[in-house]
Amino acid sequence: DRERELPHVAILSSPGMGFLIPLAQLAKRLVLHHFSVTFITHTIDSLQITQNTILNTLPRSIKTISLPPISPQEIPPDAKLPTFVSITQKLSTPSLLHVLKTLRLTSTHRLVALVVDLFGTDAFDVAGEIGVPSYILYTGNFLALSVDLHLSTLDPESSEPVKMPGCRPIPREDLVTTAQDRTNQAYTWLLHHAGRYKLAKGILVNSFAELEPETLMCLKGEPSHLPVYPVGPLVQSGSTGKGDGPTPNWLRWLDDQPRGSVLFVSFGSGGALSFEQTQELALGLELSGLRFLWVVRSPNDKEACATYFGVKNNQQEPLDCLPDGFLERTKGVGHLGPLWVPQIEVLSHGSTGGFLSHCGWNSTLESMVHGVPMIAWPLHAEQRTNALILVEDLKVAVRPTAGESGVVKREEIARVVKALMDGGDEGKRIRSRMMRLKEACVKALAPQDGSSHKALSDVLRQWTSRVSLE
Ligand code: UDP
Repeated sequence: DRERELPHVAILSSPGMGFLIPLAQLAKRLVLHHFSVTFITHTIDSLQITQNTILNTLPRSIKTISLPPISPQEIPPDAKLPTFVSITQKLSTPSLLHVLKTLRLTSTHRLVALVVDLFGTDAFDVAGEIGVPSYILYTGNFLALSVDLHLSTLDPESSEPVKMPGCRPIPREDLVTTAQDRTNQAYTWLLHHAGRYKLAKGILVNSFAELEPETLMCLKGEPSHLPVYPVGPLVQSGSTGKGDGPTPNWLRWLDDQPRGSVLFVSFGSGGALSFEQTQELALGLELSGLRFLWVVRSPNDKEACATYFGVKNNQQEPLDCLPDGFLERTKGVGHLGPLWVPQIEVLSHGSTGGFLSHCGWNSTLESMVHGVPMIAWPLHAEQRTNALILVEDLKVAVRPTAGESGVVKREEIARVVKALMDGGDEGKRIRSRMMRLKEACVKALAPQDGSSHKALSDVLRQWTSRVSLE
């Protein structure tokens, strides 16, 4: 029957906002192209509230399914994010199989693809079992994807920058942090997934051709011929579920600031600084004398995933970690945001003029899409690689230099904040380059001719053609 000929795509997101947000965005795009979509997540109690703010923005036609929780005892207590996420995904494959089988039997639409993120490759087997092809939405950029694919061939003894075809050289210390400690389970998991990427029918990448032309060409060309599709920037648009409630304090404050005057300071969904660095950052912002909106987190120097899921582990109250008298002295000039602010609304706000960011790839794309120049402050994962692209290649960010102890001192922080925000020549040049990137983002997504639009259309055609195949 005709109804059953409509294509249906199942999307499976790893726990973590950095996966959920771009995958949800893909889901919305698919609905616009007349696909039916089921969006599958994992049940992680502490993630539920923020996760729901995103899931609630999905169109009502998208069915959401949460897989049953796995036992917390299965996760080692010191697990890093890749380990946590990979174990959760792996142990959930039986329930995923059940969900997919049920969808096949009961949905009026034909299941044509399963899309997972970079930690979801164990689901390939499940999809294969019921004859559904698997795709990845890689939520980083092409350079990071190349690193993942080359990890197993890197010489651990060498200190030379890593050189891969089509890629800028990457100093060892700027490689993905998971690769810095090969004895950690997280590294084994990363290798496991990267080794399976080639099993995907297609790898959609949240970047665009004009941003990384050579790296893209090399991945697509000889000898690997990887089926990569640049479909980015996939970032949230429109409302992020603000709803009809009262205007939050941070937004009221932002509304009152002069145009382009505020530096937004945030380290993504889970990034946190050490106690000493938190204090130094506060004093540096104060010293700059410029306006800031800061999402302060409890100090934590470890790359454990606890902060990502809001798990309290004897955390101090964030405000207790600020220098004495800081709040009084910066009153009016600075505002401290709650633990979660809808970042896209801050970046699209006229008062925002700069973004001090941990350079997570979603945050980076969101800054580009809104033409907001950056201060690069990478912490974990592939964020140092992203910072290289931003600072050295695209020149749309400034990066503070850490002192010998590894801590960035207040004077250095004030220097970069002023360089970006104080109306000087360097800041103006950086800003105008970011504005050009903003235009490039619009072009890549333009209907018909945009490179990312065309790449996504190619994938959609593959999916649509499966309907008539069966
Ligand atoms: N985000 C947000 N509010 C916050 C923190 C994060 O809306 O307070 C969103 C942000 O806009 C981005 C995502 O969460 O879409 C974080 O992804 P990213 O890749 O930047 O970093 P991660 O959190 O994965 O390190």
